Parts: sequence; structure tokens; C-alpha cells
Amino acid sequence: MEKPESVTNQVVRGLLHPVFPVVIFLVFLAIASGLKYGIDKQDREQIQASLANEAQAMADNLEREFLVHLEAIRRMAQRMEANPDMRESTWSQDARNYLNDFGVYQAIEWIDRDFVIRWLEPLSGNREVVGYNVAFNAERRAALEQARASGTIDISGVIDLRQGGQGLVIYVPIHAGADNNGFMAGVFKMETLARQLLTSRVLDAFRIRITDGDDLAYELNTSSETARGFAHTAPVELPTLNWALTVTPSAAWVDSQRSLWPSATFVSMLFMGILTSLTTLLVQLILKRNRALLKTRRELESEIDQRKAIQQDLARLESTDALTGLANRRFFMEDLTHTLTIADRQMRQVALVMMDLDRFQMLNDSLGHQFGDELLIKVSERLNRLSSEKVLVAYSGGDEFMVCQQHVDELDDVINLLGQIKQSFAEPFEVQGEAHSVTATMGIAVYPQSGLDADTLLRNADVALYRAKEQGRNTYQFYTEGMQDREVLRLELDKDLSHALANDEFVLYFQPQVDLESSEIRSVEALIRWQHPRRGLLPPVEFIPLAEESGRITEIGRWVVMAACRQLAQWQGTEFEHLRIAVNLSGRELDDESLVDHIRDALEANSVPPRRLEVELTEEIFIQNIEHNLDQLSRLHKLGVHLAIDDFGVGYSSLGYLRDFPVDLLKIDRSFITDVTERHDDAVITRAVINLAHNLGIQVVAEGVETMEQLVFLKNHRCDLVQGYLISRPVPAATLEKALREGTMITGVAVDSGL
Ligand code: C2E
Ligand code: MG
Ligand code: MG
Repeated sequence: MEKPESVTNQVVRGLLHPVFPVVIFLVFLAIASGLKYGIDKQDREQIQASLANEAQAMADNLEREFLVHLEAIRRMAQRMEANPDMRESTWSQDARNYLNDFGVYQAIEWIDRDFVIRWLEPLSGNREVVGYNVAFNAERRAALEQARASGTIDISGVIDLRQGGQGLVIYVPIHAGADNNGFMAGVFKMETLARQLLTSRVLDAFRIRITDGDDLAYELNTSSETARGFAHTAPVELPTLNWALTVTPSAAWVDSQRSLWPSATFVSMLFMGILTSLTTLLVQLILKRNRALLKTRRELESEIDQRKAIQQDLARLESTDALTGLANRRFFMEDLTHTLTIADRQMRQVALVMMDLDRFQMLNDSLGHQFGDELLIKVSERLNRLSSEKVLVAYSGGDEFMVCQQHVDELDDVINLLGQIKQSFAEPFEVQGEAHSVTATMGIAVYPQSGLDADTLLRNADVALYRAKEQGRNTYQFYTEGMQDREVLRLELDKDLSHALANDEFVLYFQPQVDLESSEIRSVEALIRWQHPRRGLLPPVEFIPLAEESGRITEIGRWVVMAACRQLAQWQGTEFEHLRIAVNLSGRELDDESLVDHIRDALEANSVPPRRLEVELTEEIFIQNIEHNLDQLSRLHKLGVHLAIDDFGVGYSSLGYLRDFPVDLLKIDRSFITDVTERHDDAVITRAVINLAHNLGIQVVAEGVETMEQLVFLKNHRCDLVQGYLISRPVPAATLEKALREGTMITGVAVDSGL
């Protein structure tokens, strides 16, 4: 259901409606019209009042003047009364005086009692009326007779004058009744009367009508244009007359009277209306524009929000590893940089843990990538449980994981985390229906001691990891000062190693193995040394792992085999021709398909019988790529080469595979021999291994024999061969030959000798 619009919204919508400015204009127009009407009305009233004043003034003036003239006639009549014998000349003179004084008269007449005009002044222009009887109709006669009888004046009303034009005559009786001596009469020409009485200004501005009762008595300025709607009638109080004066103004006069206010008010209001409407229109436009802008802004903001969300999604996707779901390396590094900035501010430590799954590569190679991926996912799930606000776990690729502990107050915090990581690996991982025990090796760099920026920390954690791997697996190593130097050294060595073969810098040292039963030396182990041009003689631990990493080990291995065969060839036909040489092969060398061929070629090239050569392999070859390795070993065995298992006991310690592989010799690792006379468990293991090997028809060599006690113990427990510093350190061939020749080496001891 649609939400009802709020009152404010409705108001705003109304205000923004396009009709609103028109409404405003109409309101102003209405007000303007109203005001104009009101002021106009007032104005008209004002004009009417002025007109009334004018009319009244005219009427008053007419009255006054008329009465003055009447009075003059009356005085003449009185003079005649007083002097009935007045001569015509006297009268004429009197009349002329009046005519001069009052220019209004058309004529002054004396009329006898029979109403006949007798005397008249001025004569010119009026002469023909002398002898005229003014009682020219019954009405006039009655009026005059009445005046004659009563002695009251009579005014003729407006009549057509004998002299022409219109006029009126005032008859003043001279005595009343029987004594009447006629009338003194004043003749007024209406036009003259009116013009005389009314100022020229007034005459221009008005049309004037004089009515006698209902009859129009006289009209002045008939031609002049009059304003419609304006007229005023004022009564003229004259004896015997019932006059009214109607004044109609000219348009010009009305205009001159009109005030400017109505128009000015109207125009200004209209102007204000237009202005207000335009302003409203403008405000509307601005508001609408604003609204449009706001709308656009909102749309933009929502678009920006959407984009942000998309970007966040993308960032999340970009920051996550697709396989494991953990943070990826790029995100981890960005986060680490950020974390370090905060740590710097808060004076806190940060730990970076680099972690490698032990032997993952081997598992991946032997059990397939699918297996590897699944294992990685399982491991990631476990590690991800350690994730928290303070711990970020990331997958770096391969079998490498990274953990960042963002709040480290003391080193124990890191140790604790390492314990938790180790704990994550305690339970085997169920992959493809089988449980697999996996361990991890870790290198740790702590900010700020082990590096001040993310890259340095990462590099140093890597160095520490490398060191940890060197120490064996399933362990950890903190980065320490100097590791970096070793790392530099390592990289340099790696570079030098590429030239070592070409420069013939490798040499073989030999360490004899004594047969405890016969006290004879029938075999020697060839141990490689690198005569480094600057660093001197380097033991294999310094460069073999490097060579294994870089893949150069294959070439080195070939050189070792060839060098051993050459040595065997040299010994042929000498007192040392019975010696067998044991060479060490690393697991990776077995990957080389042509290994067996190469060994055969080396033997043949030097005409050395294969049984003179022994190959030592560590236990891991029994785990990785089993089928392939088994095949390689079988081929070697068929060739007649002896096979020995080196460092037995440190790796898988599973004796089961010994049955399946064609092994001739088993070398118990030095770590068991070192304390074999002190530690009961080592003694037990050593004894058990010897017995088991013997049961399988395999001979046993004890490595690292350094004391007579060890030698005695081994002899007592029927170990076949011993090898160690007690007899001889690894030495160059010449030294070995000399020692053998001179018989300076300890080669045996009597059983139960008491040592
Ligand atoms: P390995 O095959 O177990 O060799 C025995 C190592 O123990 C030698 O160390 C030897 O000097 C040392 N050793 C022998 N007797 C004693 C003893 O009484 N006390 C002590 N403390 N040590 C003793 P080296 O020569 O440094 O060789 C180390 C490892 O390097 C060898 O262990 C072997 O795995 C590897 N290696 C040596 N030469 C080669 C080679 O030509 N190719 C390959 N792939 N690996 C080699
Ligand atoms: Mg060896
Ligand atoms: Mg060994």
C-alpha cells in the first residue's frame, strides 16, 4: 500500500507546482484590481464632490448675480414709482447707466400696464420690439396680470426673444393693482447671462444645462465632449422660477481631477505581482534544480554505494585464496603493513609465522594433486580455527601458510600460538578416506626486532623457516641476528655452486667401515667435499641441501658416481682392489630415469665390477613415489650394485618396507649410537634393528662410532660393521691409502674385552 503523503510534502509539492506563480500573480492582480476599484471609487467620489462644489458654486453665483440684476430692475421700478412723470429721456439715461454697469442685459424696457413695450434701451438691435405686447399668450398674460395685481415680480422663464435667441425677462410691476403703471422689465439673453455669470474656465470644462422643472430651459456648450458617468444638479433658488443647474464635466476636466493613485497603485501592485511570481518561479526553478541535483546526488550516492559493495566483494574475492578460503598472500601483506603501522603507534610487537607442511611435496607427488588440494583444504580448516581479531591466517601458495599475530606483549604469546598451531596438526588428517599424519615447520620473525617492515619481516621469517628445515622437520625457529648473513652466504654459495663442477672443485673423502668379525676394512663411504676457492673446504651440509633445492644435485650425483668409479679403477690391481665404495644418493637423484644407465656406464667406462659400488639412500625413498623408486632400486640391484639404507631410524622407522626392497645393508643413524651405551632405549632399538635386519638377511652398519665402548657394545650385539671417527674421519684417498697401508686405524676389539 502506498504511504500517505505527509502534509509538508503536500505543501512543498503545491509550492513547486507550475501553477503556483500564476496563482500568486492572479492574487496580486485581484488585490491590485480591488485596490484600484476602491481608490477609483474614492477618486470618483472626490470628483463628484468637486463637481458638486463646482455646480453649487455656479448655482450660487447665478442666483447672486441674478438677484443683483433683479434688484437693479427693481430699483428702476421704484424710481418710476417715485417719479411717475419721469420722462423717457430720463429713464433712458437711467437705463443706459444700468446697462453700462451690468452688461448682462439684452435690454431694459418699460412696459405699460397693457403689457405693451413702450420704452426700451438700447434701441439699436431692439427697435422692432417697441410696441410689442409681451402678454403674447394666455399663460403669459395671466402671469403678468397676476404680477400687476399683486405687485410681485414675474419672470418669464426662458422664451424665444423677439430680438432673436433665447432669453428671459424679469417683470417688476410699478405699483400694484389700480395704481399700476406697467412694468420695468429686464431682458436677459440666456447665453449672455450664462457667459457673464460663469467664468470662462468653467465654461470650457463643463456642459451646463439649466432646467425649469422638467423642461430644458437652456443648454450651454452642447458641442463639448463630456465625461460619462459624471453629472451634478444643483437647484437655483430664483423667485418664481423652479430652476436647476446640471453640470456635466468634460473628459479633460475629469481627467485633470483624477488622482494618479489608482493607476499607480494598480500598476505597482501588478508590478509587484509580476515580480513576486517571477521570484517564485525563480525559487521554484532553483528548488527544482536543487531537488534534481539532490536526486542525482542520491542516485550517485547509491551508485557509489553499489560500486563500493561490488568493490568490497571484489576486494574480498581478490583477498581470498580460491582453494583454501583463507586470506591470500597479497591481502596478508597489505594487512601486515597496516598492522605494523598500528603496532608502531601502540608500541606493540607483531609476530609473523611462515609455515611449511613437512614432506607435502612428496605426498603431492606420490598421491596426486587432488590429494594435495584436499589436504591443503583440511589443513586450512584447522588453521582457520586459530583466526581471531588478533590472528590472521593466510595461504601463501604451495605448501606454505602464513600467520600474523597482531598483538604480542611478550614472547610467550608467540610460543603459545606456536603450541596451538602444533596442536592443530596433532590429529591426523582424513583425506580420501585415509588418515594422514602431517607436521609443519615454522619460521618466526617478530616486529620490531626481526624487521621494521612487512617485506623484511617476511624475508626473515623465511630465513628462519629455512633454518628450521635444516634442523629437521616438525619444529620451529625464531629469526635471530646473523641468520640473514647466513642467508646471504647461502645465496652466494648457490651462485658459486653453478661453477663448482666446471671448475672441478669437488673432491671425495673416504671414511672406512670396519667389519667387526674379521676386523677388516672392506668398504669405504665416499663423502663429498667442496674445495671452495674462497671459503676453503666445505662439508656437504653447506651445499647439498642447496643443490637439492636448485636441482644441481643430479649433476653432482653423477660426478660422485663417476669419481667413485674412477677411484675404484685406480685401486684395481693394487692392494686396495678389494675395497668397495659407498656413494650417497639423495632421494631426488632417484627421480632421474637415466640414473641406473649412468651408473652402469660409469662402471663400464672404468671397468669396475658393480659389486664394488654401493649406493646409500635415506628412508624417504621408501615413502615417495614408491613404485618408481622400487623399480629404480630393483634395476640397480640387478646391475649388481649394493644397496644401503642410510640414517636408518630417523625417518619413518617402519621396518615393513625392508621386506619389499632389495636392501643389502642398513646403516643405523648416528643419533642412536651416540648414547647407545648410556641410554637404555637407544640400546634396545639398536639391538632390535640389528636382530630384525639379520632376520631379513640384511647386514648392519653402525654410524658415528666414536668410542671404544660403543664399539664393544656393537660387537657384543653382533653388529656387522662400524663406521666413525674412532676408526677414521673421512679423509682424502691418499690419506686413506696411507693409513690402510700402515695399519694405524683401530680395526677391532676382542669381544667382552671389558672396555
Ligand atoms: P651420511 O651419509 O650419514 O654420512 C656420515 C656423516 O657422518 C659424514 O658427514 C661423516 O663425516 C659423519 N661421521 C662419520 N663418523 C662420525 C662420527 O664418529 N662422529 C660424527 N660426529 N660424525 C661422523 P659428512 O661427510 O659431513 O656428510 C654429511 C652428509 O652429507 C652425509 O651423511 C650424506 O647424507 C651427505 N653426503 C655426503 N656426501 C654426499 C654425496 O656425495 N652425495 C649426497 N647426495 N649426499 C652426500
Ligand atoms: Mg651415508
Ligand atoms: Mg648416515
